[in-house]
Amino acid sequence: MTHTRNIPIARTNLTEEEIQSVLEPLKSGWLVQGPKTKEFEDKWSSFTGAKHSIAVTSCTTGLHLSLAASGFGPGDEAIVPAFTWIATANVVEHLGGKVVFCDIDLETFNIDASKIEELITENTKAILPVHLFGLAADMDAINAVAKKHNLFVVEDAACGFGSYYKGQHVGTLGNAGAFSFHPRKAITTGEGGMITTDDDELALKIRRLRDHGAEMTDLQRHLGAKPYLLADHPDAGYNQRMTDIQGALGSAQMERADQITSERRRLAKRYDNAFADLAWLQIPKVEDGYIHGYQSYPCLFAPKDISLSNRREINELRNDWMDRLQQKGISTRPATHAVHMLKFYKEKYCLDTESFPNAALANDCSISLPLFHGMTDEEQDYVIAQVRESFN
Ligand SMILES: *Cc1c(COP(=O)(O)O)cnc(C)c1O
Repeated sequence: MTHTRNIPIARTNLTEEEIQSVLEPLKSGWLVQGPKTKEFEDKWSSFTGAKHSIAVTSCTTGLHLSLAASGFGPGDEAIVPAFTWIATANVVEHLGGKVVFCDIDLETFNIDASKIEELITENTKAILPVHLFGLAADMDAINAVAKKHNLFVVEDAACGFGSYYKGQHVGTLGNAGAFSFHPRKAITTGEGGMITTDDDELALKIRRLRDHGAEMTDLQRHLGAKPYLLADHPDAGYNQRMTDIQGALGSAQMERADQITSERRRLAKRYDNAFADLAWLQIPKVEDGYIHGYQSYPCLFAPKDISLSNRREINELRNDWMDRLQQKGISTRPATHAVHMLKFYKEKYCLDTESFPNAALANDCSISLPLFHGMTDEEQDYVIAQVRESFN
């Protein structure tokens, strides 16, 4: 007898209590950036060790606000890894800047820090390292280059919940960091994001820009001596406020933050053990000093040594393999895309695929396997068996 499987790449996992938590703001009537958002921010600071946590509408807007608050603007250049979600590059465009791509390391999928310095010009103002899929970028090397050339560092920590570098949570290593609460990430508020920083002045600037440039938030005004007077606006800001409905949902999930991160690591370890002997599948590599958060489980499909000359052939083999897994009811995805190969960037900057060889290879040969909180061991054993059988 056959039974139909449907194992998604990710699945949202909320407890009944977490679902109920959204009713509180709905009943109290405080719907936007109020006490629940503040509570979520406070819990985020305790968990990550960041001095300031600032809730926003997404990781993308978090990256944008952080960069905007640094003074980044037209004509400025920012260095961005060529293999990342497109949003990391888009925020540079949104501010009128120029995106300068940097190739990645194929073992970690993260920016190759040794290639950053050669990209620096007199217009370079920022580096946006990405902690891709929950593995921290090599922040000591990145911060050393940034310090030498006086560059602002915004960490794209979209996937970085529960990710550590030399004992420190990501998002606390650069000038600012931005996290995502999209449903593909470990904690979700539907849409949503969080900015972290230890810099008081920067935090103040970001808080203003988040809320139309107001010098005081609505919550501060309501709790203050003259709640009936409106705040002044030192900046022409944006509206990037999180709703308290999202704040409540995020805050409720933080109550089991340790469980959420340890369950992802447990599942990843089971994959690691099951695939350790497969020569054709490179599993996530975690060096000493790093703790992986496993937003996903990204692998490199390498049935032979991959190179620019055979990447198309291996890409076809990978796609056929993904198709066979899909037919068995297992969803997989390329780990992410190479941004320099996407139409907008390719055309605007006249970029050649092969200028960033490792990003191109990751684009064509990577695969993420299903990994989500709530995945049963039985489901995972099925994925393991199919992965092992479906390619020879
Ligand atoms: C998910 C993701 C983003 C975008 O996050 P949003 O909250 O959807 O804006 C940015 N960068 C990376 C690396 C991501 O994985």
